[in-house]
Amino acid sequence: MSYKFVSSPNRGDFTLRDYPAVCPECHISTTPNYNSTAFSKDKQKLYAFLTCPNPQCDKSYVAEYDIYCVAANFRRIVTGSPKGETFPDPRSFF
Ligand SMILES: [Zn+2]
Repeated sequence: MSYKFVSSPNRGDFTLRDYPAVCPECHISTTPNYNSTAFSKDKQKLYAFLTCPNPQCDKSYVAEYDIYCVAANFRRIVTGSPKGETFPDPRSFF
């Protein structure tokens, strides 16, 4: 388990608990390089911008953390979600 101290002018100091164990792009087990963080509007989540240290990969990705007091616990890698299908209202057929 790896830790990273993050300082935020608005929120004070945080500890990121754990990094994603595997790069989501090249799937190699590694400790990513930390770039920066952003907070959700409600300040309940923290997003860490990370880069894969594998030189053949070198891709960046975002990890989501839940904030508990001064700790931020790794939750998931942000992958987005596909737009849902939209169907016409069946009542419009009559
Ligand atoms: Zn990678």
